Amino acid sequence: MSLSQVASSIPASPTIALNEEARLLREKGEPVIHLGIGEPKNKTPISAILSSAAKLGSGDVKYVPTDGTPSLKKAIVRYSEENYDRVVAPQNIIVSDGAKQSLFNILFTLCNPQDEVIVLAPYWVSYPEMIKMIGAIPVVVTPEDGSFVARFDEIERVVGPYTKAIIVNSPNNPSGMIYPEDLVGQIVDLCERKGIYMICDDIYHKLVFDGRLAVPACKYTRIDVESSKIILVNGVAKLYGMTGFRVGWVIAPRKLVEIMTNVQSQTTTCVSPVMQAAAEGALTGMQSIVETLRLTIQNNRDVLMAELHAFTDVHCVKPQGTFYALPDFKAYCRTSVARNSVELCQFLLKKALVVTVPGKEFGMENHLRLSYAGSVKELTEGIDRMKWALDPNAPSDIYIGDRKIIRDWL
Ligand code: PMP
Repeated sequence: MSLSQVASSIPASPTIALNEEARLLREKGEPVIHLGIGEPKNKTPISAILSSAAKLGSGDVKYVPTDGTPSLKKAIVRYSEENYDRVVAPQNIIVSDGAKQSLFNILFTLCNPQDEVIVLAPYWVSYPEMIKMIGAIPVVVTPEDGSFVARFDEIERVVGPYTKAIIVNSPNNPSGMIYPEDLVGQIVDLCERKGIYMICDDIYHKLVFDGRLAVPACKYTRIDVESSKIILVNGVAKLYGMTGFRVGWVIAPRKLVEIMTNVQSQTTTCVSPVMQAAAEGALTGMQSIVETLRLTIQNNRDVLMAELHAFTDVHCVKPQGTFYALPDFKAYCRTSVARNSVELCQFLLKKALVVTVPGKEFGMENHLRLSYAGSVKELTEGIDRMKWALDPNAPSDIYIGDRKIIRDWL
């Protein structure tokens, strides 16, 4: 079969593939614990349910403007004013099928083949693949000191004549780090000096812990949105736990939004008005929902840190936001059970029925990404099973579901 070389070279999203594997195991009745999944467990906010149900009930569910319904855009304008202190016009906004489509559209609209896009490791799995899909080149900056935040000089060093954009995701999936304010300011300045776009993936921006803030990049510019190099990506998936609604948006200069709209009009036409009504309901409804979620997740983070503390030779940088942590499992990646993070992840799924995601997928080999968006019970049981499977200091027998299993491989 003769297929596109580019398309054929793109692997499945590892997180989506693992979700599917876990789902199939659960369907077979296996007591799988999912520490891989990137979504909170909360129910959809009632305001989102009611407004989408009202739209559905109207029976008037047709094509709507490609760039988003006027009323959702109005809610996004208000969201930007309240959360970013940034005045934007509806023409600066385009709504897409999740932040994922927003990001793809931005990259497709900005880049020519062979252009370069800087990605900071550890990075969200989809950035490099999206960049490759549009024929551009991902240039990955990996912090030389082994930390999760690149130094500014490491970033500046890779900027060249083909650099079109840099993607900044803070709070960061997978590390949970918030980039220091001075680094964000320096990147804004670099982008403005060199004419590079700064794509800010702000999808977790309110899920921050211990009184910290993820200060938005636009705080560091005097340039208004129309001439700005800052492109903002956001959505309802993470803050409101509305992953299945698939609504994200971009705030950018209107020229860019116009072109993105043309692209979207030739691909998906528009986001379903039912889903847009849901997103509008979430943005205009009670915002205490986000705070409740944030507090739950912060508590989960504390539970996870305590559990990992008692895991021999596992080190974890304390996450400052999101619902992910990226502990260092180097000690277990060079053993008879696993030679790297991919094998370790497979081993844990097979022996302990725990889903994790290999650090390799995020540009950080020897680490595992753990999600703590689920329940405390799942979290503690999941880490207990991982300890049992790997840590010789852990008791050698365990109950997985109602099966008692004795470890015989350490
Ligand atoms: N950016 C990051 C950093 C993410 O983690 C995700 C989802 N895992 C997305 C974007 C995509 O969000 P959405 O579900 O709105 O497409």
